[in-house]
This record gives sequence, structure tokens and C-alpha cells, in this order.
Amino acid sequence: MIAKVEPLLTTRSVSGPFDYLLPESMQEVTVGSVLVVPFGRRRVRGVVVGIAERSELPADRLAEPLEALEAGVPPELVELGRWAGEEYCSTPARGLGLVLPPGIGSGADARSVRPLVELEVEATPSGEAALTGGERLGVRQKAVLRALLAGPRSARELAASAGADRAAIRRLEVRGLVHTREVERRRRPVSQGVGAVREGVELTPAQRSGVETITGALGAGGSFLLHGVTGSGKTEVYLAAAAAALERGSGAIVLVPEIALTPQTMDRFRRRFGETVALLHSRMPAGARYDEWRRLRSGEARICVGPRSAAFAPVDELGLIVIDEEHDSSYKQEGDPRYDAREVARRRAEQAGAVLVAGSATPRPESWHELRRLELPERVDGRPLPPVEVVDMREGVRGPLHPRTLEAFDELASTGGKAILLINRRGWSTHLACRSCGHGWECPNCDVSLILHRDGGLRCHHCGHLEPRPERCSECGSVTIARVGAGTQRIEAELTELLAPLEVFRLDSDRVATSGHGEVLRRFDQADSGVLVGTQMVAKGHDFPEVTLGVVLDADGTLRLPDFRSEERAFALITQLAGRSGRGPAGGRVLVQTLATGAPSIRRAAKHDASGFLAEELERRRALNYPPFSHLIEVAVASPDEARAEEAVARLRDLVAERLPSGDELLGPAPLFRRRGKYRRRLVVKSERRPAAVEAVREAVDTAVSGRALRDVAVSVDVDPQ
Ligand code: ADP
Ligand code: ZN
Ligand code: ZN
Repeated sequence: MIAKVEPLLTTRSVSGPFDYLLPESMQEVTVGSVLVVPFGRRRVRGVVVGIAERSELPADRLAEPLEALEAGVPPELVELGRWAGEEYCSTPARGLGLVLPPGIGSGADARSVRPLVELEVEATPSGEAALTGGERLGVRQKAVLRALLAGPRSARELAASAGADRAAIRRLEVRGLVHTREVERRRRPVSQGVGAVREGVELTPAQRSGVETITGALGAGGSFLLHGVTGSGKTEVYLAAAAAALERGSGAIVLVPEIALTPQTMDRFRRRFGETVALLHSRMPAGARYDEWRRLRSGEARICVGPRSAAFAPVDELGLIVIDEEHDSSYKQEGDPRYDAREVARRRAEQAGAVLVAGSATPRPESWHELRRLELPERVDGRPLPPVEVVDMREGVRGPLHPRTLEAFDELASTGGKAILLINRRGWSTHLACRSCGHGWECPNCDVSLILHRDGGLRCHHCGHLEPRPERCSECGSVTIARVGAGTQRIEAELTELLAPLEVFRLDSDRVATSGHGEVLRRFDQADSGVLVGTQMVAKGHDFPEVTLGVVLDADGTLRLPDFRSEERAFALITQLAGRSGRGPAGGRVLVQTLATGAPSIRRAAKHDASGFLAEELERRRALNYPPFSHLIEVAVASPDEARAEEAVARLRDLVAERLPSGDELLGPAPLFRRRGKYRRRLVVKSERRPAAVEAVREAVDTAVSGRALRDVAVSVDVDPQ
């Protein structure tokens, strides 16, 4: 037999698959097996993507694989991985890397992920009898047998409790007093849930109707958008749908945004379905991840919950895929391949005939346009959504907080209660400016302002560059340097002073690096009152019933970015934060500070009017021919040498233009800001024929990088950029 093997090499120039002759000893190798094969003068790992009776090459020119590793990727995932490699203009190897079991694909440490096998010891009937009979036993041996009266124990436990080493156990076994056998111990991830979880609820009519529609489609397939305001009980719908899938003998995948922010959802699935749930995410130890993968592969676990990579989980007989908080940007992978887990899920659901359910309070215009809608219009508890007040910051406000906001905080301080404040910038102030000459401080490696942090350092948020805060202006020598704008640290400090003794908690990526999300959220949850200040992380998924006040600072911050998704982002951010307020009997309110009081996203968010916003936004997209009415593909180049970046992008532009279907737009090259010392340029393709455009770009990039012309220029492709 011949195995067609795609080598796991990342260079674009290698294009497999290559044929290898399977020896007698490897007849169990199938599609999805991972082999070690000779490749040129190297040994490389490769995935079997096909099995054939014969090769086009003569048998004496075919090499044999050196080794077969334990992997067993399901064939449909091999196909999905190859598709992802192509669809996102990456390589087959990178695409396949997405579907391999943890540890198999990577370089040197690949063999370090193994099953954890333990020696289990059990007393035989004569072993039990020996304790009371006249057998001659040592003190340790007695201790071992006594411990085993309660049931089998691992050798490790016996070593700890009875001081028995392997040799001692071996001697007992030789005398027929104990049996031993090797058993595999599955390593499981630990839970880290915070917040309240209610169990055993009776579904509301709206939930029931949603569940019925979804379960009615199980087996036949279909895609739905579950649109429900925050607290409307979407997760209960997912749970019920997953239970129905299990009942039919199907498996399910539940995708959640970044794991650290959604421990609650993971926990709820685990509590409902117990051992049937496997978790897969990168924060788990490699061993546990490997074991969870194999629990799914073997069918021991039937539901996988995890972030974007779980779209590739080996769930057999897949009946349901849920995408929770489908608007979340973490579904897009930043590295190569830049896949979008929502697209992967869609593809996979189609492939398997599974039902796809995307849920959100703030759906993407794409999903609104394309999926069948299921509505949960009200909060489960019947409480109204909190009133949202838009606060105009143009009217001579001094400092980052408007008088109305200060008033609301004063009230909080006197009555007690909890507040969440969102400001989408970390650090102390946004930049420094010389009051005499206007000089600003920029990163030497990136074309961006340096940001002042509380420790006195000026930091670059793109490359990590750090320099001490200047004493005087480097241009004119003036000592009056203004700190402009506010970040999380400054707001934290101001509120701490203003509201003492009320406690202020900060959650941003600087804080997370030292104490972790879970820790901050747990402390906020357990406190009687307090304010949680942070970046967008504070607007995600948590359920804290005591929060009565939500505040968004600089709500139009994202609107100032030149990006067709900025309205959508601003709307989602405000709506999501508003959803955190007023979940308890005390009710709540929300204040939104902005310079752009008339922006559609802000106006609509203040009225909780998602459908109005989405209808308007879709019209705008249609007029400008943006997704979902077209597909975007971005090609970016980066080089430490500006001229080479220019050259490369010009060449790529020509190569893409030659291949692009007529009618498609090719925009650029446009400069991107210099980052980490690299000059960057980009092209954007706007197409209505996605497969043809993807292929054109892939061929153009392959052609460009195969020559020597693009040495020391990095090229990246982003299909459906975020
Ligand atoms: P969402 O995912 O839409 O934000 P959840 O499913 O988390 O909403 O529900 C919000 C809260 O309401 C949770 O604490 C949940 O346990 C509770 N809940 C959901 N559905 C019901 C119901 N039918 N009856 C009572 N409580 C419910
Ligand atoms: Zn100056
Ligand atoms: Zn920098």
C-alpha cells in the first residue's frame, strides 16, 4: 500500500503530498495517521492524507516511513485542516497543524506528550486472607494489604501511604497476594468558575421555542442566530440543545471566547454534563490537553467546550456546534493560518450535517444578514434593561470624568453597591506632550506614541519598548510636560481617592500578567461593594447581580479608527457593558461619555436597539460594498528596509492584479504604521467571488515568495480581516 503524506514543513515551497511505501508492519496506517518519514536528508513528521494501491513512481524509488506515531486524526478533520490551509492562503502543513492532537505537530518536544500510565495494585483473595491467616508478613507488607482492603490503589499512593516501593509490591505479587496492572490516568483540567450559577431552571416560552426549533433541525442541519439581550438565557438554550444532541447519539462543540474571560460558561457545561464534557484550551497543561483530546477521540467525551481552536476538536458524529458570543474578535486567529473559527464552524457543520447556533446580544451584521434568527427579547428575570444616558464630553469638561459621572459615583459611595467602568486604554495617560513646543514622545521602533505608566515608565504597547519618563523636553528643554488623556491606571487612582474607602479593582492585560483575570473577578465578586475598572475585558460575559452602575469612557474611541467595523465595535462594547448593569433587584443605570453623541452606534446602543442598528449598518455596508456584500482579503508586507517593502508590495500588486477576476477591486498599496522596526504596506482585495479571489491571492503570494526577490520581506495574508 502507498501512503500519501503531507510533510509538516512550514516552507511554502514544499508542496505535497508525497508517496511512501508502507511496509508490512504499518498496514494499520490510515488517513489521519502521523508518520516519521525520510525527506531529502531529513527525518520529518507528516500526516497521511490518502491511501492508494499504487503510485506513479516505480516501487524502487519509493521510501518507507521510519515510524508511525500514535495520533489517529479523524479523516474528516484531515480534510478540514487541508481546507483551512487553502482557504486562509496558508500552507497544507499549517492547516493540518490545526487538527493534530496536542504535542504531535510541534518540533522537538513532540514525544513528550504521552498517556500517563500508572501501576494499579489490587489484593487477591489470598492476599486478603493472608492478613488474618498465618502468613508471614513484614510490617510494610501488612500496611499494603490493609490499605488494599478498601479497594485497588495506585503504586504511587501505596508508596506514599504504606511506604512500599515497587520491589515490595513485586514480592507480594510473586507470592500471589496482589495483582498489578497498568492503567491510564486521564489528567483533567481544573475548574475556575466565578459568580452565581442557578441550576435546574424551567425554560421560558421564548427559550423553549428556540430550543424546539434547534432540536427540530438536529439530523437535518441548519444555521441559526440566537439573538438575545444579555441575561436572556442563551446559555440555557445551548445546554438544552446539547442535551438533545446527546440524546440522539450526536456530539457537540461549544465555542466560547477567550477562556480566561468565560470560566462560567465552561463550568455550567461541566456541571450539567459531567464527564461527557471535555475542555480544550491552551492554558491547560499539555498532558491534560492531550488526554482531553483523546477522551473526545475515543468517544468517552461527547461535548467539547473551548475557544476557537475547539472548532477542530475530534468530536465524532457531530450534531451541534454552538458559537457563544459570536461577535467576539477572539474567534479570529492572529497567527498563520489566520482562520476565523466561525467560518471553520460553518464549514464543519455543513460537512457533518450538524446544526450551527451562533448566539449574541450584539450579533455581527454578517450573521444578522445570513442566519435564521431566533429571538430572546427579554431578560429571564423580567427586569428591564438599564436606562442608558449619553453624556456629552464636548462641553468644557475638565479631567476624564464628567460631573454627571462623578455624581453617580458619589451616590454609589454613599449607598454602597457595585459599578463597572470601561475605558479602552491601559496605562496612566495616553501620551506626553511638551507644553512649550508641542513635542510628543514616540516609540523608536514603531510609529506610535509612547504611553505613560504608573511606575513612571514610558511604554510602547506594540513592541514593549520601555524608557524612563523624561524630566525635560528633548527638543526645547522645557520642564513643563503635559500628561494627556487617561488610561485604566489613572482612572483607578482617581476613583480610589474619590471614593475611599470603597475599593477599586483594575482589570487589564497589565494586571492579568501579574494576578490573572480569575483572581481580580473573584475578589470583585466577593466584595460587598466596589468599582471594577478595566479595558474591554470587563464587558464580557460575567454575571454580577450587585452591579447597579455601568460607565463607558470615550465611547467613540473605536470610531476614530479607519475601519469599516468600528461602528459595529462601538455598538457591541456599549451594549455589552450595559448588559452587566442592573441584573439584580436594585436595578441599574449606565452612563456613556462621548464626543460623538450623534454616532448611530452610540444612539442605538443607548436605546438597546440592536435590530435598528443592524438594519442601518447593513444598508451602509451594502452602499459601500463591504461584507457581507463582498469579501475582503488583506495582503500585508513587512520589512526592516522601507524600499524593499515598497518593492515587494508593488510586485505583489501586479501578481494579484493579473490573476484577479475582472470586476473585483484591488485597493492600495497603503502604508500601515511602522511596527517593531518593520515598515509595512498593505493591499486589500474586495471581491464578490470569494473562492476565485482567494485562489488568485494564494497563487500570487506563492509565486512571489518562491523567487529570491522577497528575501527579508515577510508576507502575510488575512482573509476576512477583523
Ligand atoms: P445569557 O447567556 O443570555 O447571558 P444566561 O443563560 O447566562 O443568559 O442566563 C442568565 C441567568 O438567568 C443565569 O443565572 C441563568 O441561570 C438564569 N436563567 C436562565 N434561564 C432561566 C430560566 N428559564 N429560569 C430561571 N433562570 C434562568
Ligand atoms: Zn519642547
Ligand atoms: Zn514600539
